[in-house]
Amino acid sequence: MTALPNPEIYLDHNATTPVLACAAAAAQYAMQQSFGNPSSSHATGIKAKAQLEQTRQLARELTGAVQGDIVFTSGATEGIQVAVLSALTAARAANTNGPVLLLYGATEHKAVPQSLEHWNQLLGLNAQIKAIPVDQHGLLDLDFIREQLPRCALICTMAVNNETGVMQDLAALSALIKGGASQPLWLVDCVQALGKTALQLEQLGVDYAPFSGHKLYAPKGIGFLYKRSGAPYLPLMAGGGQEAGLRSGTENLPGIAALNAVFRQLLNKEQSYFVSSDLLWQYRAHLLAALKTVFPHLVLNSDAPHVVPTTLNFSVPGFASKDILDLFDAAAIRVSAGSACSSKIPSSFVLNAMGLELWRSQGAVRLSFGPAMTEQECLAACERIRSLKSVVDSCCLVVSDAQSTDLQPVDGLIQLKHEDLCSYLLVDANAKSLVVIDPVQSLASRIAQLVQGHQLQVCAILDTHLHKDHPSARPELAALLASYCGAEQVDVLGWPQGETRLQMGRYQLRRLPTPGHSPEAVTVMVDEEGVQKFAFTGDLILPGGTGRLDLPGGNAADFVKSLQLLQQQLQPQTLLLSSHDYAQRFFTRWDLILQEQPVLHSLLQQPDCCDSWTEQLSAQHQWLKQQQKHFCGVVEVSASDAKALISPHELQSLLQQQRDLQIWDVRETYEQVAGALESYIPDHQIEHVPLSCLVQRLSEGQLNSQQSILLVCRSGNRSLLAARVLARAGYQQVYNLKGGVALLA
Ligand code: PLP
Repeated sequence: MTALPNPEIYLDHNATTPVLACAAAAAQYAMQQSFGNPSSSHATGIKAKAQLEQTRQLARELTGAVQGDIVFTSGATEGIQVAVLSALTAARAANTNGPVLLLYGATEHKAVPQSLEHWNQLLGLNAQIKAIPVDQHGLLDLDFIREQLPRCALICTMAVNNETGVMQDLAALSALIKGGASQPLWLVDCVQALGKTALQLEQLGVDYAPFSGHKLYAPKGIGFLYKRSGAPYLPLMAGGGQEAGLRSGTENLPGIAALNAVFRQLLNKEQSYFVSSDLLWQYRAHLLAALKTVFPHLVLNSDAPHVVPTTLNFSVPGFASKDILDLFDAAAIRVSAGSACSSKIPSSFVLNAMGLELWRSQGAVRLSFGPAMTEQECLAACERIRSLKSVVDSCCLVVSDAQSTDLQPVDGLIQLKHEDLCSYLLVDANAKSLVVIDPVQSLASRIAQLVQGHQLQVCAILDTHLHKDHPSARPELAALLASYCGAEQVDVLGWPQGETRLQMGRYQLRRLPTPGHSPEAVTVMVDEEGVQKFAFTGDLILPGGTGRLDLPGGNAADFVKSLQLLQQQLQPQTLLLSSHDYAQRFFTRWDLILQEQPVLHSLLQQPDCCDSWTEQLSAQHQWLKQQQKHFCGVVEVSASDAKALISPHELQSLLQQQRDLQIWDVRETYEQVAGALESYIPDHQIEHVPLSCLVQRLSEGQLNSQQSILLVCRSGNRSLLAARVLARAGYQQVYNLKGGVALLA
């Protein structure tokens, strides 16, 4: 019998919360029974109006807003807009000498700086916008603020940070901002504070404070803004004059009714869904202990006494956020990564602003729970987290004192990637040996754990060339694996001194000098029991392109000779693997090279045209330098090879029509162990082909190109990549499950 998928454990309350049962009931009542328009003068309308005003009163009590206004909005982003618009319009009208200054905390939610930019531009204010630095705890630099205050028209800070849970010292900020001669307007984003820490907005002299319902058990689409009495205000929405003209448009009464129910719970100290701060700290301690059982080397990126108890932000050495997210998601535990930014490996701008090391901001995971968590929910979450210990042990993801009795097997070629860089492990499980090729630093600890966990003998750690854009992790890895490593005397690329061949279990490795991209470069040719399988070409040839020749040591004539040599030596089926994979193609083959790059084809036929070809190539380099960050090579990135997409509702008919359909789960082994796909697609055999083993699978050559294959992963992204790789390799019936397992759950 197939196991049912695990029930979801939701630990991402800083993103959004479920709606409390009493809030949902109140909203439903407001939609079906008490559905009046508060502007109507009949009894139905009067009842709705009473509900509206009562909710406003509760909001006042909760936020310490005695005289100021409470304006209902669609959420915090709207509250931020109207506050910024109001403050900037007032600054423009004040017509002061010299440029206006607007300040915001460097860790503020993006809604704040982006609104400042937007309205500054739209109003033509030409203000200078500056981020206030934070220290390593995430606390604002008060000296910086003090220096800047004289010119400042608006200062935006937050009560509690959404990624780290860090609380600012609002009393100290108030003394500074409102205690001096120049008194700028002050916006405090209170979205993550309500229900987690007490607020006294009026006492503090806060001018504007936006709130959001969906962060505190009310539905999306409702929020409110506190505005100090006398603070400038310009409505964003004009029209029917609702909300005393501060925000026109018929009020969202179902949302407001839900807020009312939540507010009552918050104010009711005796019998409430909301639990005491002490209890929340205990829950936090339990969750942290469970996380540490799985990841003993976890580090917290924010901690007491500067945080609210409901957010745990942590990183684990050797893991990117996505690795942990994938693992947790497979076990149906929903947590979130630090916010993405522009680089390929997202890193958290909040942790970057705190000056934490890059591995921490690239590896940050946020676990957040709500102030209405029950003990039962906490225990269930801890238990599910702890269940991952056996997964990480069996997949050798973390160093463990105890040898796992349940190791997931590894054999053949494993392709590991970090951004565009590839590292390869060639493993012979029978011989308990491996060779590492082109190790990159960010993958070193992962590789070391795999070697140690499986107690593999490292025959060699090789580089194909001296990389120009990153240091090799060879020395670091050799040190980590001192007791597992082979020869001591090695050359500059890690080959045992004087050797050109290596035997590792069933594999024979041979070094073939292939200069061009760099003078010392070699191609590592790999035969498996006499059959040529792989050629590790470094940056000489890349999938869909060639390595650059215009960097120091590059030589076009050598490149052509190396190409000719490879033409002689390579077999048609051999998979060529490079140290960069800018186009996410995983591998190339000689026939694909010639097909995709006709210029190389003609170059091989007429080596004399080398000069015109290098000119062509150098023009391409110049262009690419401006377009992309392909430092080591020129690659055409083509989107044309996407394959058929299958929506979850089409899945059943595909399964019925295509009787010989193979289903490949391309998630990594640890995800497959943490949450088997069989529980989502019962009664079908599912093959485990992690993306890192896709090339190995292709090298086995047992598939026929007409075989129908359905690829599945967590969200449909990795399976789409795999579908493209298979299509490029000539497989014609490849399907990708759009939306991945997420939509089957
Ligand atoms: N401010 C903070 C600190 C937040 O966490 C969020 C939501 O993530 C917002 C503002 C925006 O809130 P809303 O979704 O209500 O527009």
